[in-house]
Parts: sequence; C-alpha cells; structure tokens
Amino acid sequence: MKVAFIGLGDIGAPMAAHLARDPFDLIVWNRTASKADEFARNHKARVAATPADAVRDADVVVTCLPSSAEVEAVLHGENGMLGALQKGAVMIDCTSGDPPTSRSMAAELGGRGVAFIDAPVSGGTSGAKSGTLTVMWGGEATVFERVREVIEAFGKKIVHAGPVGAGDALKAVNNALLAVHILSAAEGLAVLVKAGVDPKVALDVINASSGRSNTSENLIPQRVITRAFPRTFRLALLEKDIGIAAVMAVDLGATTPLISLAAARFHEAREQLGEQADHVEAVRMVERENGLEIR
Ligand code: NDP
Repeated sequence: MKVAFIGLGDIGAPMAAHLARDPFDLIVWNRTASKADEFARNHKARVAATPADAVRDADVVVTCLPSSAEVEAVLHGENGMLGALQKGAVMIDCTSGDPPTSRSMAAELGGRGVAFIDAPVSGGTSGAKSGTLTVMWGGEATVFERVREVIEAFGKKIVHAGPVGAGDALKAVNNALLAVHILSAAEGLAVLVKAGVDPKVALDVINASSGRSNTSENLIPQRVITRAFPRTFRLALLEKDIGIAAVMAVDLGATTPLISLAAARFHEAREQLGEQADHVEAVRMVERENGLEIR
C-alpha cells in the first residue's frame, strides 16, 4: 500500500515511523526538508520534493499539521496536493483540525473522487512512539475500512466519532478539558503552597481523592515538580484546540463559561511564553502571578 505522510512534527514523525515498514511503501514530505531527509536516513521511506510529488501515486495520504489552515494550504498552495491526488485515494487528516474546514475539504475532495476522514489522535508523543494512540475519526465506515491497516499501525483505541468533523469536535473538547485541568491544578497547588502545604504532599492526597486528573497524576509530578518542563506538545497548539472548542460552543449556542475562560487564559499564556513553549508551561504563568514555584 502506497502511503504519503505530510508533516513530520513532534507527533507526526513518530506516527510516520510505524508506516516505514511492510506492507506500506512510505513517502514523506515536510516543509523543512532537512527533517524529511533525517527521517529517511533513519527509516525505510522516500522523500518527496513537494506535497504534489508526495501524493501523486499514493493510495492513502496522512496529514499531521498544526491546524486545518495548514492542511488547506498544503492542499491548495503551490505544488499542492489537490491536483495530484489520484481518484480512489483516501486522505486521513490526523491534524487536530476544525470541523467546518474538515467538512469543506471532504466535500471538495469527494467531488474529485478522493475520500476524506478526520482522524485526530490523543496519547502524546509517547503514545505515538509506542503505536498506542487513541484515534477518534469522523467519516464513512466504508472509507475507514479501506485505511484501517494504516490507522492501526499507530493507533490502539480507535473510535468512530460520527460524520466528518466529529473527530475534530471530540478532540477539541478533550483538549479544552486538559486546559481546564492544567489551570485548575496549578491554581489549587498555588493556594496550597501559600497555605504552607508541601505540593508533593498535596498531590499525594489529591491523587488518592476526587480532585485528581491526568494533570495531577502525571503532568505535574513528572514535569512541574521536577522543573523539567519537556517540550512534547506546544502550548500554541493547545491554545488552538481550546479556541476550536470555544468557537464550536458559540456556533452551537452552548453556554460554556469555563471553556471561554480557559481559552482566554491560554491565549495570555501563549503571549507570555511564546510559540515554542510546552503546554504544561501554562503552570509557569500561574506561578508568576502568585510569586511562587510549585516544586
Ligand atoms: P509541530 O508543531 O511539532 O509540527 C508541525 C508540523 O507541521 C511540522 O512538520 C511543520 O513543518 C508543519 N507545518 C507547520 N506549518 C506548516 C505550513 N504552513 N505548511 C506546511 N507544513 C507546515 O506539531 P505536532 O506534531 O505536535 O502536532 C501536529 C498536530 O497533531 C496538531 O494538530 C496537534 O494539535 C496534534 N497533536 C499533537 C500532539 C503532541 O503531543 N505533540 C498530541 C495530539 C495531537 P516544519 O518542520 O517545517 O516546521
């Protein structure tokens, strides 16, 4: 099966690595060509010079870019994929995208005989490396069956969310919850530090109690208490995801003040910490505001 993979970023590269083996015949494209060259030095894959060249013979195209805007750009831009995709191909967009853009891309591609599913992932870069990502996909079951093997190469829990765009919707809300958990855990621990409670003691209790979350059980102990703050998922991308959830809520007439507040706070954090900061570094903003460190 000929597979083209577009976007070898923090999560794209380890996902693509699972496709660099039989029965797949992998070709990759990345905007910064040196990353694609390095990938091909370490994996069984060819490098394409342009997005069009990558997809020309592909049965399946996987995209994993920051947002739907970049997917559209790679589709429609100079040497873009649109004119080169072959009839009968399937595009799997693993970007955490936005539902309206995914629906419009699916309609446009469908008119050219190319099928589309949105298939955002969760599980982080560690899940991508181990091939155990959760994949939430939107689209037709008959399309999914044609590409099941590709998705199973990097996914473990694979869930049909609904029609095209439903995977994006689910992913955006999941990440809005992550944003709320990070901010609320940071605020709670900041208060406890001020109250003279050791944050490690606080986490020990919270993680045996009802205030716990993945943030309190894993992210804060491994990344904040240690001051390691590794870069695995850019804060800018999480801000984008909460923004998608907030816009969805407005479009659907849902009342979601917490999601709106988390979106505003992550916007602030992105302005303070920049494009390369990791998502967990939002804790640093709360620390600065309170004049303390959670350690
Ligand atoms: P990165 O920022 O690490 O990588 C982004 C990729 O997109 C790079 O390959 C980059 O190329 C490319 N790119 C950026 N802008 C453009 C453009 N204008 N045209 C073409 N290519 C472009 O992101 P991640 O790999 O972390 O994330 C990818 C997607 O997966 C996002 O939607 C993210 O929300 C989602 N995701 C990420 C997770 C994570 O843990 N990292 C977890 C779950 C989902 P270049 O190398 O040239 O910069």
